[in-house]
Amino acid sequence: MNSEQLISGLNRISILLRSQDWQKAERADLTATQGQILSQLHTRGPARVGAIAEALGVAQPTATTAVGALVRKGLVEKRADPADARASLLHLTRAGRRKAQAFEGVPEALLAAVDELDESERAAFLRSLTKMIRSLQRQRAIPVQRMCATCVHFRPNVHDDADAPHHCAFVDAAFGDAKLRLDCGDHEALPDERAVATWRRFVDAGSANETDAPSAATDEAS
Ligand code: SF4
Repeated sequence: MNSEQLISGLNRISILLRSQDWQKAERADLTATQGQILSQLHTRGPARVGAIAEALGVAQPTATTAVGALVRKGLVEKRADPADARASLLHLTRAGRRKAQAFEGVPEALLAAVDELDESERAAFLRSLTKMIRSLQRQRAIPVQRMCATCVHFRPNVHDDADAPHHCAFVDAAFGDAKLRLDCGDHEALPDERAVATWRRFVDAGSANETDAPSAATDEAS
């Protein structure tokens, strides 16, 4: 298998997503970064500018400039952070919330393409994405994602049902790889001492033929 071909395929899809971001931003008279900040605040709630920069993978001065423009446009406001009076949290204004809704959703063409995958293809794809995202997180290439594999409520491979071997303790329900979440609002990060065991149980029991590149020893150090 040629890794470059996989990355090339992912890049083709990212072009579509970036293009949609630009088009939506242009229609809303914003830059793509400003649109992403509105979307981030809408999805995840109030945040400090540093957290926004980290989530978007941009430098803090870039985020600060974009936030300044959003404040001047009346779409975002700064309020004192109840956790630290010296810091401020960014909140959407009512106009900001309306504008942020324009950034929801994914391209119809991409949804249609995903719909062409059958259940087992989606499950395998989502499982592979989960592994890639965790690796990227550990390399600090992307911020921590709110995904099942790193959640305190995740119980991997605890049921005999091959279609739904996992359990979410938050909603007390079984589910399969096709329902793995990559950005869940109910996510609570696993403490480090449980993270390795949970991950091993997820990858070892579910994929006899898969190799998990990082060793357990490396995991412990991460
Ligand atoms: S709370 Fe969300 S992230 Fe956590 S296990 Fe349940 S579905 Fe997955």
